Amino acid sequence: MTRIAGLGVSPGVAWGPAALMLQRHPALRFSIAGASVARELARLDWARETSAAQLRAIRGRVSLRAGSDLASLFEAQLLMLDDDLLIPRARRIVEADRVNAEWALDRAFDEFCAVFAEVGDEYLRERRGDVADVVGRLRRNLLPASAGGVRALADLAAPAVLVADELAPSVAAQLDPSLILGLALETGSRTHHSAILARSLGIPAVAGAAALARLIVPGTMVLVDGDAGEVVTDPPAELIEAARARRDRRTAGSAAPAPRAVGPAVTADGVPVAFLANIERLDEIDAARAVGAEGIGLFRSEFLLDGRAIEAFDEDAQYRVYRSLIEGMAPYPVTVRTFDIDESQASGAGGADDDEATRSRDAGLSRGPLGLRAIRLSLGHQHAFAVQLRALARAGRHGALRVLLPLVSSVDELRDARAALRAAIREVERLGGAVPPIPVGIMIEVPSAALTVDLLAAEADFFSIGTNDLIQYCLAVDRSDGRVAGLFDPLHPAILRVIRTVSRLARPSGRRVALCGEMAADPGALVLLLGLGVTEFSMSPAAIPDARELVGRVTMRAARRAAAQAIGLPTSRDIGALIAARFPALTATPAGPAGRIHPEGQS
Ligand code: PEP
Ligand code: MG
Repeated sequence: MTRIAGLGVSPGVAWGPAALMLQRHPALRFSIAGASVARELARLDWARETSAAQLRAIRGRVSLRAGSDLASLFEAQLLMLDDDLLIPRARRIVEADRVNAEWALDRAFDEFCAVFAEVGDEYLRERRGDVADVVGRLRRNLLPASAGGVRALADLAAPAVLVADELAPSVAAQLDPSLILGLALETGSRTHHSAILARSLGIPAVAGAAALARLIVPGTMVLVDGDAGEVVTDPPAELIEAARARRDRRTAGSAAPAPRAVGPAVTADGVPVAFLANIERLDEIDAARAVGAEGIGLFRSEFLLDGRAIEAFDEDAQYRVYRSLIEGMAPYPVTVRTFDIDESQASGAGGADDDEATRSRDAGLSRGPLGLRAIRLSLGHQHAFAVQLRALARAGRHGALRVLLPLVSSVDELRDARAALRAAIREVERLGGAVPPIPVGIMIEVPSAALTVDLLAAEADFFSIGTNDLIQYCLAVDRSDGRVAGLFDPLHPAILRVIRTVSRLARPSGRRVALCGEMAADPGALVLLLGLGVTEFSMSPAAIPDARELVGRVTMRAARRAAAQAIGLPTSRDIGALIAARFPALTATPAGPAGRIHPEGQS
């Protein structure tokens, strides 16, 4: 048994045999049934033929541009495709060990490398890089054309715990909870989209557990404890029994939920508070309605892309989804956020591994939160943006639609986006009937936007504070980097102050200020947010019942007093202690190492 510490990012406990998905070496590794051996061999052959065709094409191009000497490198790579140690060896591994083609190829490559390491000749040793190049090409060609590992996941013979170094949100969005029992991830954090999705799918998950993929081989029994933030390999029978009892208690609790009011929420002293839902998929509408959400406050439209390039996503398909959302949620409003993606996702890299995606990833284009993403990217991809806006304008005829712009950092961006929407509406109206007015709001996620809300208010119809990003940019903490997850601190005095600033700057204009980050699912933070003047929240449907109940137990007066005091305290530890002292009943969950109240309000 080995215990590996990480961050619990989706509550609950699960155990099962491990299936590995590695982005660094994008291969899903699992055992296959005897009947599938022929199919895996055919996949290897197909990958070989495709790779050979690509290499021949590259050889031809290089020969024209750079001469035959350089082109001979690719001649050598073509020969490697036929080396007995590589594909024929991988075929033998598939047959003997009954494993999938990717795994067999990796094993053959490891053996190949071991042989090369012993070769005295330096020239030959250096050829190892060429073999790695060939193997990388074969791996990519083994992936199904459209969506990388996710399609292979559907082939899992039995339910498994997915162990991954990185899990792309577009892959997480398609996980089947009956097949994927739990997630053990080397990277990520609580506000990473994959973690948000795991919670909405009810899949227990641990992120930021270092070196998992080195310690775990496919088929190893793994236990994922999303409550304790721990991954255990080869757990003893007693541990599994205790986990089973815990899981059964949780299931029993959710099978017979206490009847809960679903009307409009009000504080104990009668101040109305609105709860809307954050969703990523159309089928979450039912969950949103079931908990009495008063609309969709955030539809993350980028999940529709499902690993496709934005340029390839057509207007009709988008229109149908937006219209279904609006009709499904009527009479409540639906807020669709325009694509919030980076360059790599825009080219179709969401978990897939086509050449374009690989190039942008290798070039570091998708790395880090400061690059070309969200509204900046949409404004640069005018055609794709116009397609999305036309689809929205058409859908706007069917009910209450709002458009939300992600990561706006200046009035200029807001103006450009509004101009693009006006143009889309004009086009749609030219072809059909009138489009009713569509309110346009912006996410407040960047400090520059937070500090200029009064200026933005002149041209935006509403605001939605995205604390997941706002915290990241205010505190200089990459939200997807588990190594700095301890510094991602929603109760940092700077965060309370910036939210108070937004609320104050928006007030004279009368513009609505909602909040749609994960922060509001933390009971202590929710009380402070009320006290700072936020009375509209959008959160995952699963988090709404507890948040609504909490609101009914506090008075706005007490929340304001607590916020006024908290904002003068120097550390989040002091702020956490203040909340615990003033609202002991709310904060039954213990304060964490940094003095934060753990946001377990969603479980
Ligand atoms: C946010 O940044 O708080 C937010 C809700 O948007 P996302 O998590 O999709 O970045
Ligand atoms: Mg965001």
